[in-house]
Amino acid sequence: MPAPYTPAMSDSIFSKIIRGEIPCHRVYEDDLTLAFLDVNPIAPGHTLVVPKEPAVTIDELSDDSAAAIGRVLPRISRAVMKVTGAAATNILQNNGSLAHQAVPHVHFHIIPKTDSHGLGIKWNAEPLDGDAGAEMGRKLARLL
Ligand code: 5GP
Repeated sequence: MPAPYTPAMSDSIFSKIIRGEIPCHRVYEDDLTLAFLDVNPIAPGHTLVVPKEPAVTIDELSDDSAAAIGRVLPRISRAVMKVTGAAATNILQNNGSLAHQAVPHVHFHIIPKTDSHGLGIKWNAEPLDGDAGAEMGRKLARLL
């Protein structure tokens, strides 16, 4: 049976963590995913959830790994919230160095948000133009 991996694969520090070659504080593991504490947290409890599949960016991830990540994110979020006491979280997932991805292996940050800690966001929003929005929506829908 072919490996369920896409061509763009990496052997990053996260693959070494998955293989147990580099230590981490593991909080969850199953056949397709691993979760561990971020080594440089921006809030207590900042947790990374990674697929074991070594895809670099989310657009290269298989449906099976994506589903496995989606299945565990809520459960791990609940544990992070319960343990830290945070009532809010951000889930952050960066793709590409321009988008601040530092480790070339898909990963989701679960970041507790409190008054004192958590993610700061600059959100450069502008109103969507009706015609441009309709065209963009049609183009995207054609590909999906
Ligand atoms: P990115 O900017 O790629 O979305 O985030 C990468 C994250 O991985 C950073 O928050 C960074 O602190 C974390 N990180 C990098 N190397 C290691 C490591 O060796 N162990 C752990 N636990 N986290 C790491």
